[in-house]
Amino acid sequence: MSDLTDRFMENVPGRYYVAKLCIGCCLCTAIAPDNFRENDDMELAVGNSYVYRQPENETQEGLCIEAMEVCPASAICNNGLSN
Ligand code: SF4
Repeated sequence: MSDLTDRFMENVPGRYYVAKLCIGCCLCTAIAPDNFRENDDMELAVGNSYVYRQPENETQEGLCIEAMEVCPASAICNNGLSN
């Protein structure tokens, strides 16, 4: 698990976050669009995704877990704490 300095600043506070291992493949934003968003800073050579909303119900929680399981860079983390 990554520590605080390894996560993107855009992540909202809470247990889920995207670490700086992200390769910008956009799988998580396709799977859980209510919680993950792509960084639209066009100056970045390679974009990244981040958590813009923590899951607020079981459906969103399940999709966040699915995104975490399929992330090819293992960049999605859950620190196990409550929001
Ligand atoms: S699935 Fe993982 S590597 Fe792909 S954009 Fe999301 S956090 Fe980044």
